[in-house]
Amino acid sequence: MQAERNPDVGYDLASTIRNIPDFPKPGIQFKDVTTLLLVPEAFQAVIAYWEKRYDNTEVECIVGVDARGFIFGAALAHTLGLPFVPARKKGKLPGEYFEEDFDLEYGTDTITIHVDAIKAGTKAIIIDDLLATGGTVAAVHRILLRMEVHVLEAAFVIELPPLNGRKKLDTLPVHSLVEFMVD
Ligand code: AMP
Repeated sequence: MQAERNPDVGYDLASTIRNIPDFPKPGIQFKDVTTLLLVPEAFQAVIAYWEKRYDNTEVECIVGVDARGFIFGAALAHTLGLPFVPARKKGKLPGEYFEEDFDLEYGTDTITIHVDAIKAGTKAIIIDDLLATGGTVAAVHRILLRMEVHVLEAAFVIELPPLNGRKKLDTLPVHSLVEFMVD
């Protein structure tokens, strides 16, 4: 899989994503993906693109990130017939879990994954709606490394390049469908 940005998904995804200035804090340009989900052809274009990208590859498991990563990750896992593993905010998973703290564009948080959700040696991809600073997915990646899971790449619908998320994700390959040059 080659790192790729802004591929042609056959639909103008950017036009479906609403910008909400100063949410949830002053200065944040919030990219609202719920308006993309209102357009079935746009949602289908995302999943169809990723289906082509990951079908018949080594990927064995989809890890989706709380909360909007669940929407895209679960749809993709269903389409590919692969297990879906939620990386949840702390306090939500009922079983034993690994946890990692991280800084957000607007605060700090802790992410968790059930210890028995994925076997060591499994090849996985991480799915989230948006790459900003990269702190969230870097924390998910750290948990997966502790579980000895091989993460092949992290895929996002939206990327905000000015926030340098790729740098924080270091050697982990990153793939995104739409870029916005705002911070
Ligand atoms: P980060 O850890 O900084 O890459 O932040 C990524 C997570 O926070 C994703 O799960 C996004 O849903 C959310 N997020 C961060 N910044 C924004 C933004 N400007 N617009 C929408 N969602 C955001």
